[in-house]
Amino acid sequence: MRNAAFDFSEMTTSVVAVTTDVVRNGKPVVGYAFNSTGRYACGAAMRSRFIPRILSAAPEELTDAAGLIDPGKVHQCMMRREKPGGDAERSVPIGTIETAVWDALAKVLDRPLWHVLAERFNGGVTSATVPCYVGGGWYRPEGDLAALSDEVKRHLQAGYTHIKIKVGGAAIKDDLARIETAIGLLAGADHLAVDANAAFSKERTQDYARALAPVGLRWFEEPCAPLDYETFAGLTRTYDPPLATGENLFCLQDVENLFSFGGFRRDRDILQVDPPQAYGVGAYAKMIAMVESLGGTRSRIFPHGGNMMSFALVAGLGLGGCESYPGVFAAFGGFAEGMDVRDGKIALPDYPGIGFEAQPELYKIMSELADV
Ligand code: MG
Repeated sequence: MRNAAFDFSEMTTSVVAVTTDVVRNGKPVVGYAFNSTGRYACGAAMRSRFIPRILSAAPEELTDAAGLIDPGKVHQCMMRREKPGGDAERSVPIGTIETAVWDALAKVLDRPLWHVLAERFNGGVTSATVPCYVGGGWYRPEGDLAALSDEVKRHLQAGYTHIKIKVGGAAIKDDLARIETAIGLLAGADHLAVDANAAFSKERTQDYARALAPVGLRWFEEPCAPLDYETFAGLTRTYDPPLATGENLFCLQDVENLFSFGGFRRDRDILQVDPPQAYGVGAYAKMIAMVESLGGTRSRIFPHGGNMMSFALVAGLGLGGCESYPGVFAAFGGFAEGMDVRDGKIALPDYPGIGFEAQPELYKIMSELADV
């Protein structure tokens, strides 16, 4: 399958297991994570720099006052001797390891990660359910309007109410036909988002914006290159409905620049930074604080990555909602067992940690890594 920018035929990911010396039921507590979707595996950087730095640190350099593993300290340890800037080169390996540390910590505390995050970063506030939309509508070799229609019907039948489809991989008139097909099955145009995957030239960005503006979509995602703040700012002045971006921003500075120079509209635009790809959970909490200090709101943050890691952040930090990739990305797509979608929402599960243990196919891959 492909989007407007690339196909997934070579896609890989890195899986991390963090083995602790805390023993439960006769086994060490192990935290897990993977580097989400869309960025390739980053094991070389992990093995050459970040893992050795952690393993050579003294225990007290990595633990809090209670003697528990401290994700913030682990982050600091991994950042030793790292030159400022160039964040994308290290934000994925560091963020993935850091997320696995959070999984370990939540399991040591015997609580779901979302619960730990709510307590630490959201005043203990949670709601019973999390809004969830499908990220789908990829271009496939066999793809036509009938196939897209079947896909949308499948998602509706599964309990979803909002979906997102790809644009930019076909001519505008063909994309408009895809959009019309999807909207025809949904409750309204504002239940459909589209994603151009940052593939457009400046000119094509404008052409699509003109074509899409009258449709009244939920949002128009990554209309231009992720760091082309000038083009994004220009669009915010001419395209009235919501825009979305951020899955290809990797650090606090990138997001600050989007707000300062990208024209990001606090009252409607959507921010989609991917947690393990952007230095992890602690960095995400800091980013939310910064967004709020700049006049933005957490209800318009929808993390990229339809997986249990993004779900835990949405649930714990009170974000707008999460993405879901049902039936794609093999073991790495989807959520844990029992997390059914009802009316576009998923009830909070009570698995300890992130909950990978309740994703049997994925847990098989992860548990083979653990040194237990
Ligand atoms: Mg996207």
